[in-house]
Amino acid sequence: MSTVETVRGPVETGALGRTYMHEHIFVLGAENVQNYGAGAWWDEEARVADAVAKLRDLAAQGVSTIADPTVWGLGRYIPRVQRIAEQVPELNIVVATGIYSYNDVPFQFHHRGPGTLLDDGTEPMTDDFVRDLTEGIAGTGVKAAFLKCAIDAPGLTPGVERILRAVAGAHRATGAPVTVHTESSIEAGRIVVDLLGREGVDLAKVVIGHAGDSTDLDYLTALADTGAILGMDRFGLDIINPTDARVATIAALCERGYADRMVLSHDASCYMDWFGPDPELMRSAAPNWHYRHIDQDVIPALRAAGVTGAQIDQMLVENPRRYFTSA
Ligand SMILES: [Zn+2]
Repeated sequence: MSTVETVRGPVETGALGRTYMHEHIFVLGAENVQNYGAGAWWDEEARVADAVAKLRDLAAQGVSTIADPTVWGLGRYIPRVQRIAEQVPELNIVVATGIYSYNDVPFQFHHRGPGTLLDDGTEPMTDDFVRDLTEGIAGTGVKAAFLKCAIDAPGLTPGVERILRAVAGAHRATGAPVTVHTESSIEAGRIVVDLLGREGVDLAKVVIGHAGDSTDLDYLTALADTGAILGMDRFGLDIINPTDARVATIAALCERGYADRMVLSHDASCYMDWFGPDPELMRSAAPNWHYRHIDQDVIPALRAAGVTGAQIDQMLVENPRRYFTSA
């Protein structure tokens, strides 16, 4: 019997059910909230209640698990997520460890770790990630179940490379699966499978996040042929790639036999402070970017494009279960 850690404790991987593999609850800058949100646009109780309502609605659609890749750089704060998880017992929330940066490592690692002033031969990031995975996060008792890092338009900067290597080290130590935010316009997934492959990461345990921003079947099949899983995980971000193009790409990949290499999600959140205090402003720029879009619009469109119910189950149930099943 294989289990995966969730906010409320271990769950059998066979019981995860329909799983959205990349949904945030909150994306926040802690310093933004603490210095500019408090007393102004940030109301902790209102935001928690709003998240509970949105996640209950998500669970009511038959989604029983979300993987939330919110880590350092995106405002991970587990006590708040715990409060929400307690009030939505019908939804499993799987949380992550790692660092989200497109450029440099956080200042807290500038002078500690490989090649720095205080180099003691270890990578302190890896130690932190492993502790989150094996002992729990910040005394909450909640264990992370996967690793998260990022590579965006700046490419493999020294900071990004160090974070990817630190994530690889934590994967080797624990076997925990990995999700990487990638920028498809620079084909960053290729850099990821190359680097993580050389670092000894089992690519079958790697989601190339945001691969679905691309419609280039050569790029996508090259990634999938390494064993990696394609994150078709930004449904609703039509400004990057519209739903009909995302759907057509998935249908083409299913036809070529890649249903076992894709997972589906929105990369949505209950609240995100990146677009200013008023989330409705983003609503007008991306009206479909919410937790209901896949169930309401995407699955019917996939069916209409010839994707079978079994292939949809493969992407929503079987592939997430396999990803979170330890070897
Ligand atoms: Zn994300």
